[in-house]
Amino acid sequence: MSDPIVIIGAGQAAAAFAGKLRMLGADRPLTIVGDEPVLPYQRPPLSKKYLVGEAAFDRLLLKPPAWYETNAVTMLTSRRAVAIDRAGRLVRLEDGEELPYATLVLATGSTPRRLPAAIGGHLAGVYTLRGKADADALMADFQPGRRLIVVGGGYVGLETAAVARTRGLEVTVVELADRILQRVAAPATADLVRTLHREHGVDILEGAAVARLIGAGGRLVGAELTDGRVIDADLAVVGIGVAPNAELAAAAGLAVDDGILVDEVCRTTDPDILAVGDCARFPYRGRSIRLESVQNAFDQGEAAAAALVGAGGAYQPQPWFWSDQYDAKLQIAGLHHGYDDTLQTDGPRPGSHAVWYFAGGRMIAVDALNFPAAFVTAKKLLEAGKAVSRADVETKPLKELLG
Ligand code: FAD
Ligand code: NAP
Repeated sequence: MSDPIVIIGAGQAAAAFAGKLRMLGADRPLTIVGDEPVLPYQRPPLSKKYLVGEAAFDRLLLKPPAWYETNAVTMLTSRRAVAIDRAGRLVRLEDGEELPYATLVLATGSTPRRLPAAIGGHLAGVYTLRGKADADALMADFQPGRRLIVVGGGYVGLETAAVARTRGLEVTVVELADRILQRVAAPATADLVRTLHREHGVDILEGAAVARLIGAGGRLVGAELTDGRVIDADLAVVGIGVAPNAELAAAAGLAVDDGILVDEVCRTTDPDILAVGDCARFPYRGRSIRLESVQNAFDQGEAAAAALVGAGGAYQPQPWFWSDQYDAKLQIAGLHHGYDDTLQTDGPRPGSHAVWYFAGGRMIAVDALNFPAAFVTAKKLLEAGKAVSRADVETKPLKELLG
C-alpha cells in the first residue's frame, strides 16, 4: 500500500475529511477507525428530533452505507485506537492490530464532563448525552410524569429539557452560573430562552449548585443543592460541557493545551499528523480557539483534506450554530467573544427577535430567535467582511444592510 491515511474517530469531522479527499480525486488508501458500533452520523438530532422519536437513526447517517465501499474507504466500527507510534508510523488498536500510516488524522471529538461519583454522578438514572447509545438509554427512561433534573443550562441541557417537556416529564434545570447560556450567549438571549422554557413549564434555577445527587438502592431519587434545597427526581441529565479527546495525542508527545494544537492547515506539531473538529485548537484572528460545532467539524475536516492534497489553503472558519427548542429556532452567526455592546431588535412576528453583538462599534455576531432573515443577513455580512455599526442595525431595514 502506498501512503496510507488513517483517521482516528468516526464522527462529523472524519466523514467530512474522507468525503472531500475522495471528491478531490485523491485515491490514497484510507481507513477510518471508530469506537462506536455504527457508521458516522449527525449528533445534533440526538438532543432534538431523535430524542422525541421523530427521526429514525438511518436518517442521521452522514454517508449511505454503500458510500464507503464505492469510495474505497475501509470503515472499522467498534474498534478503539489506544496508541500512536510516531517513530514506527503505526496506530495501535485495542485488540492489538497495528495500522501503518503515512498521514494520520485525529478526529476524536470530545467527551462530556461528568459529576464525580463521590457526589452521586455514578448512580443509575444519571445520564450524559454524546452518542447514539446515550440517547437510546435516555429515551427508554423518558416516560410521561417522571421528574427530570437537568444539570447545566447549556445547549445539551436546554434542548433535552425541551424534549422532556414535550414528552410530558416534569423538568427542573439547575445552572451553576448566574444565568443559563453563560458561555455561549449574552444576557438578552438568555432572557428570551429562559422565558420560552418557563412558558413551557420548566423550572429554571440559576446560580444554583448541586451539592450531591441522592441515591436509593443505587438509583437516583433526588438532588440536594448547596443551599440545602432538595429536589425529588427520577432521572438526571448532566450537560456541563465537554473535554476534548486529546489523550492519544498527548501520550504521543504532540502539543496539547485544552485541545490538540494545530496550525492553519490543521497540522499538529508532527506535520504527518493532522487534527480536526472538537479535539483541535487552531489559530483564529490572532487567538487560539477550539470550536464545538457541526460547522467547524465539517469545514475544518474538508479544509484539512484540501490542504493535504494541495487543493486548499488556510482554514478560515465562518462560525455559525443553531439550537432547536420546542418550536423555536435559535440561529447564531459569528463569535460573540470580546463584545462590548448588544442591541435587541424584533422580527416580523411575536416571539421573533435578534440580539446583535458589537465590538469597537462593529457588528461581530447575532443570535436570531425565530428570525431567519436576521441570521442570514448577519451571516452574509460577516462572510463578506462588511463593517456594520449599531446605528446601521438600528436605522436600516435588513435588506439595506446588505446593499
Ligand atoms: P464527534 O462527532 O464526536 O466524533 C468523534 C468520534 O471519534 C466519536 O464517535 C468517538 O467515539 C470517536 N473516538 C474518539 N476516540 C477514539 C479512539 N481512540 N478510537 C476510535 N474512535 C474514537 N453542533 C452544532 O453545530 N449544532 C447542534 O445543534 C449540535 N447539537 C448537538 C447535540 C448533541 C447531543 C451533541 C452531543 C453535540 C451537538 N453538537 C451540535 C456538536 C457537534 O455534534 C460536534 O461539535 C461534532 O459532532 C464534532 O465532530 P467531531 O468529528 O469533532 O467529533
Ligand atoms: P456547554 O454549552 O458548555 O454548557 C454547559 C453549561 O453547564 C454551562 O452553562 C456551564 O456553566 C454549566 N455548568 C458547568 N458545571 C456545572 C455544574 N456543576 N452544575 C450546573 N451547571 C454547570 O456544554 P453542553 O450543553 O454540555 O454541551 C456539550 C457539547 O455539545 C458542547 O460541545 C455543545 O456545543 C454541544 N451541543 C451543541 C448544541 C448546539 O449547538 N445546538 C446542542 C447540544 C450540544 P459555565 O459555563 O459557567 O461552566
